Amino acid sequence: SVQQAEGVHLPRYVRVNTLKTTVEDAVDYFKRDGFSYLGEAIRLDDLNLKAKSFVRDMHLSDLLVFAPKTEFHEHFLYKAGHIILQDKASCLPAFLLNPPSNSHVIDACAAPGNKTSHMAAIMKNKGKLFAFDLDAKRLSTMSTLLLRAGVRCHQLANRDFLKVDTGDPEFKDVEYILLDPSCSGSGMVCLGKDTSSPDQERERRRRLANLAAFQLRCLNHALRFPRLQRVVYSTCSVHAEENEKVVAACLQQNPGFRLVHLFPQWQERGLEPLTQCLRASTTKTLTHGFFVALLERHSGPVTTAP
Ligand code: SAM
Repeated sequence: SVQQAEGVHLPRYVRVNTLKTTVEDAVDYFKRDGFSYLGEAIRLDDLNLKAKSFVRDMHLSDLLVFAPKTEFHEHFLYKAGHIILQDKASCLPAFLLNPPSNSHVIDACAAPGNKTSHMAAIMKNKGKLFAFDLDAKRLSTMSTLLLRAGVRCHQLANRDFLKVDTGDPEFKDVEYILLDPSCSGSGMVCLGKDTSSPDQERERRRRLANLAAFQLRCLNHALRFPRLQRVVYSTCSVHAEENEKVVAACLQQNPGFRLVHLFPQWQERGLEPLTQCLRASTTKTLTHGFFVALLERHSGPVTTAP
């Protein structure tokens, strides 16, 4: 079921696109534009802002936080691609995968591309970013957004990720994959009553099982790329079936991979026993509902990131 929106007003998160500007310049621009800057947030409550004030996020340094419903779609910085309007939770996957400059990366289910442009910024536009999506229309929107964001290291392809040949020499140097597959979207806050008759409930369960099977196939497929080191798996779902259960099944089927213990300062963790993973929610993190796991190939001692 989709989370109810009554009384939920999430902050407006603004990711500064470091391919086009710096956080300092964006802050100065907003100050000149009449917003008052309160510095870096320290605790969650600092993200509950009044109109016309803003802070820098305490977890993600490229993220600015404004009052709920602050409108930026007509703002110069948005139109010029200097800022990306992206929920805080959806900034976690690229940040945690943290692909270095010059690496080869796959964004498996990429459109409309907010995470792709975030990875390109982290990679400083250096390296190769292969981005796939099944939906041609979403890919064409993505291409416009990436152009506006100044992304240049990408290669878009209208392809089914599950059919991408993992042995293709083109992908022989791929070490990082971001997998953000289609999901139930149950973490997205939206309006509307949650009515469900027994028939609707059965249909919902069936849909969830299909999605989970698809997500597991995608994750297993990602692990087959020969030089793969790390894959980040994310959904905007709150259901364990699409989150911890997919990851647990994948680990069982792929003993050469293990979970990385993510971001200790992030309080909301994956459901037991997968507490290495992160969850996000309207109440605990002031974001949409979200899940992130990072799997890495075994080699040497257990590592912590970031
Ligand atoms: N990562 C994107 C972002 O941050 O902007 C959002 C991705 S959205 C949650 C999931 C995407 O997966 C959709 O655009 C959908 O078209 C695509 N998709 C679904 N099945 C796919 C498949 N088999 N291969 C590639 N893409 C697929």
